[in-house]
Amino acid sequence: MRIPLEIVPSCQFMDQESRDFIRSRIDEDIKSGDLPAGVVTRFPPEPNGYLHIGHAKSICLNFGVAAENGGKTYLRFDDTNPAKEDELFVQSIQRDVHWLGFEWAHLTHASDYFNELYQFATNLIKDGKAYVCSLSGEEIREQRGTLTEPGQNSPYRDRTVAENLDLFMRMRAGEFADGEHVVRAKIDMSSANINMRDPVLYRIRHVSHQRTGDEWCVYPMYDFTHCICDALEGISHSLCTLEFEDHRPLYDWVIENANVNYHPPQIEFSRLGLEYTVMSKRLLARLVEEGFVSGWDDPRMPTIAGLRRRGVTPAAIRDFCARIGVTKQENRVEMNLLDFCVRNDLEKSARRGMGVLEPLKVTLTNWTDGVLDLEGPWHAQNEELGRRTLPFSGTLYIEKSDFALDPPKKWKRLAPNEMVRLRYGFIIRCDEVVVDGDEVVELKCSYFPESRSGEDTSGLKPNGVVHWVSAEQAVAVKIHEYERLFRVPDPTADSFLDDLNPASVTIKDGFVEPAIVAHEDTHYQFERQGYFCKDSENPNCFNKTVSLREGF
Ligand code: ATP
Ligand code: MG
Repeated sequence: MRIPLEIVPSCQFMDQESRDFIRSRIDEDIKSGDLPAGVVTRFPPEPNGYLHIGHAKSICLNFGVAAENGGKTYLRFDDTNPAKEDELFVQSIQRDVHWLGFEWAHLTHASDYFNELYQFATNLIKDGKAYVCSLSGEEIREQRGTLTEPGQNSPYRDRTVAENLDLFMRMRAGEFADGEHVVRAKIDMSSANINMRDPVLYRIRHVSHQRTGDEWCVYPMYDFTHCICDALEGISHSLCTLEFEDHRPLYDWVIENANVNYHPPQIEFSRLGLEYTVMSKRLLARLVEEGFVSGWDDPRMPTIAGLRRRGVTPAAIRDFCARIGVTKQENRVEMNLLDFCVRNDLEKSARRGMGVLEPLKVTLTNWTDGVLDLEGPWHAQNEELGRRTLPFSGTLYIEKSDFALDPPKKWKRLAPNEMVRLRYGFIIRCDEVVVDGDEVVELKCSYFPESRSGEDTSGLKPNGVVHWVSAEQAVAVKIHEYERLFRVPDPTADSFLDDLNPASVTIKDGFVEPAIVAHEDTHYQFERQGYFCKDSENPNCFNKTVSLREGF
């Protein structure tokens, strides 16, 4: 999807967003007086991995529409699959939702409702609308039919209510092994919608659950659980992604047949896809488990934790979600749009400073003043951020790429016998180049004492302005620069490991001015270089968040 990246105030997108089809629907429901308890939404992650930026779209939508209408949102852990779930993920999900700037009214778990769910399944059995089936998983799959052929009725479909109730109780009591029996809805094995061909509602799993321990050995399936939890929590709009559209008839069937007294509407919207990455917890888990990345919070990951560690801000993610909007059209959004939102936010908020990524030593041959404290604003357009001290001395580092032995025409940086200004400092001229073989290892320069920034009376016309640090006071740091994690815009589940970009991280030994290391803030613009963020795990390590311009 091509979204124009001109600087359009994001409120324009917000206006457009406020009229997306879900918000229009909610407006109508409010107007028609259908919502006695107001707008109630839920964000229902399965705690089987870290949240990614696709989840952020759902979070912004669910929490956003509730907040806009004075309603409330549940954070509900969909924890019905004990084998894959972990308390670690429960904690990380809460942290990430908070970090994105949202507050839930209630924190719940599908497992809070295991008793009620068991009761509703019993209701279905009593009404002859569900039965215990003793086919194996494989047999059930084989007999389900295809898109063009109907399925076959299970030989256990006509068990009596009494027999079904007895078997279900004994399943619960732990009398059977995993897979021996399941509970299935009795709907229609010839339905055009395969989800309606007697779907499994309950299965046996002798697995300890992260919250309920060994209390249960039967666990409800997603399609049975989700709608009932929505009903019990009084969810006014159950917003989910498009792949659940085909499950909606089952959602409605369960609510209508299990004697649930409230029927929430399910409304589907498209998933967020992002170019050059994958967006499924299952695939992201493989990258972590198989060591292709350093963890769920590797700065190359599209996880909230990875984006945070890279230096992406919550405001940028919220802005991104507002700009992509909510539709029913599946697509992959360009990474450039996220980068754009990040720059837009950091442009306003990040302190400026100087960092040299590939240092070239500069010796000022006529410098005799020891260390001189210069100073500069933390942000030229935002005086509120104050100023910082910048030590200057006779030995400096500049960026290797700011010097050319044989400069092209209109070169705006340093070259033999040419002058540049050192930002907030003095004008220098390169008098002598020290080489080691082909490599330039040092520049011997002179500085002009009367050219100090702000009080320049030299009348000199330097080529340009370059950034620098004072060699002795600068802090040696590791700088991690990232490329896309995948080398193709649309990696797929089948081949994503082959599509990994083998060079997605470059580590440089650089130097930054001491005030940056001393300050408590984490986000900085290194002038002329890009936005960088202090790494949360490693001292004196900076992650490059984004370049200053698209494609830079
Ligand atoms: P994954 O395949 O990454 O595990 P999921 O849909 O299984 O995703 P859940 O934890 O079940 O993940 O998702 C919680 C909520 O987030 C669901 O309502 C789901 O629809 C929504 N969601 C997940 N991925 C996306 C996405 N890429 N875009 C928008 N919403 C998403
Ligand atoms: Mg899932």
